[in-house]
This record gives sequence, C-alpha cells and structure tokens, in this order.
Amino acid sequence: MNQLLKSIIENNRRYALEGKVASYIPSLAKANAEHLGICVATLDGKEFSAGDCDVKFTIQSISKVISLMVAILDNGTKNVFSKVGMEPTGDSFNSIMSLEVKNPQKPFNPMINAGAIATTALISGDSLEEKFEKIINFTRKITGNDEININEEVYLSERVTGDRNRALAYFMKSNKLIEGDVEEILDLYFRQCAIEGTCRDIARIAAMLANDGILPWSGERVISREVSRIVKTIMVTCGMYDASGEFAVHIGIPAKSGVGGGILAAVPRRMGIGVFGPALDAKGNTIAGIQVLQELSKELDLSIF
Ligand code: GLN
Repeated sequence: MNQLLKSIIENNRRYALEGKVASYIPSLAKANAEHLGICVATLDGKEFSAGDCDVKFTIQSISKVISLMVAILDNGTKNVFSKVGMEPTGDSFNSIMSLEVKNPQKPFNPMINAGAIATTALISGDSLEEKFEKIINFTRKITGNDEININEEVYLSERVTGDRNRALAYFMKSNKLIEGDVEEILDLYFRQCAIEGTCRDIARIAAMLANDGILPWSGERVISREVSRIVKTIMVTCGMYDASGEFAVHIGIPAKSGVGGGILAAVPRRMGIGVFGPALDAKGNTIAGIQVLQELSKELDLSIF
C-alpha cells in the first residue's frame, strides 16, 4: 500500500502547478503550493502514507463535518435539520445568493459557510470558551491526537478579513435563522476553521466515519451509526460544494474539502483517507488532491456506486 500511495503521489504532483493557494485569507497564501500528501487509515487500525503527509495545515471547511457532529450530539438530528437543510446548492461555498433568493427559511446544507455558521451557532455552552473546548476536545478524540490545536495566525487572519462570513451571519440573524451574539458565533466558526492537523489526523476522522461511528483504534463509539450515515450522505451530495456531482461520478467516495487544501474521504466499511495539497482549483478544492483520490479510487475500486 505504501508503494502504491507513493507512486500515486508522484504521478499527480504536476497538477499542483495548475492550481493556486487560497489567498482571500491572507495567512493561507504562505502555504507551499507544491506540497502533496496522503494517509490511509484502514479499519483494522493500520496506517499508510506517502508524500507530504506530516505537514500541518488548517482543516478549514473540513471542520464543518466536526461541528455538524457536535451540534447533533448536543441537539439531536431533528433539531439541527430544522435549522439547516440537506440540499446541495450548486453555488460556491460562500455564496450569499442561495441564502437570500432561493431558500430564506434555512441555509441549504451544513457544508457551505452559511449552513456551517448556523450549525455552529447551535452548539451549547455557557461561554465561547466552553463551546470551543467541546469542538476541540471532540476533534482530539476522533483523531486520537491530544496535541490538536488551532493555528492562531490563520485564525486571526480570517477573523480580521472574514467579512463575507460576517455578511452571511448578519443576514441570517436579520432573518431569525440564527440567534445570539453574531460576533461570538463567527469567532467560534473562525476558530474551528483554523484547527490544524495532518493527513493522518484527517484519515483517522474519516476512518471513524467509515467504521459507522466507532474509533477503529479503540473500539469506542463516538457517534451513532445513524448519525454517521447522515454525515456521510451529506458529504456525498454537498461535501465538495458545487463540484460534488463531478466528484461523485469520478471518485464516488463521501468526502469533505477545505481551502487549506485538505480532503477527508470516508470509504464505508473500508478505510479513511486524508489528502493534502494547498494548490486549489477554481471551486476551492485541492487540484492535485482530487487527482490523487481519483487514481486511488480507480486502483482500489473504492467508488460506493
Ligand atoms: N474558513 C473558510 C471560510 O469560511 C472555510 C472555507 C472553505 O474551506 N471552503 O471561508
């Protein structure tokens, strides 16, 4: 497996040249566009990796999967989906249009920015710190990594420049789609986006989802089989934003991307995969990382369809 991963990384490095690192969050522009790494975590606890698999990156939108799980653990599935939908938008991840024109009752799904801000707003706690502790502790548990933390520089960089997210959040507050202190909700959202990890951490979260909610390395159940099913289904339809359809056709694995260059991909009952390559395509997905997943999916016949 290590050999296979190594050759897939080398075969696809050239695609990074066609992408660009995210720069709308200024501190992300410092990433090395040539990095490309992968880690595979199988359900019997084995891990395989290749390329730049030890480089840390901020998980960005991959955190939407984590906050969705935490919000469901806190409120139950029914309450969460009364505030956020389950439908793909076909628009970019930070689009305000679908929120205003198409469906003012609730944001379309928890994998776009508006939906994730609404989901994060549902996490309970007496203070911002307490809510964030919940998110970070859950992340540490599902990665098996107690050292998981946030990248302070990226967090501050997004907090200073995140006016599009501010616009989405204030718009939702004005429509009573979210309640409470908007700046505090945004702060929580910016922090979760700045959680830092490696391909290995992402692969482990994916392995838990692939394993129907049980941590493969300890046998502990962290979410129900039903919640794991719902999260994976939403990843299939919405996880790659407006590229979700094409990704389902070519790769066929429930996945979630982030503008830090990561993809979390959970192959039900087979393996978790973490991929990282900061050069992005026009839709904000890692350009070489998608090619890596496509080759791996073909080689190992991973499509669920
Ligand atoms: N923090 C980023 C934002 O809100 C996350 C977006 C992403 O990864 N697609 O814009």
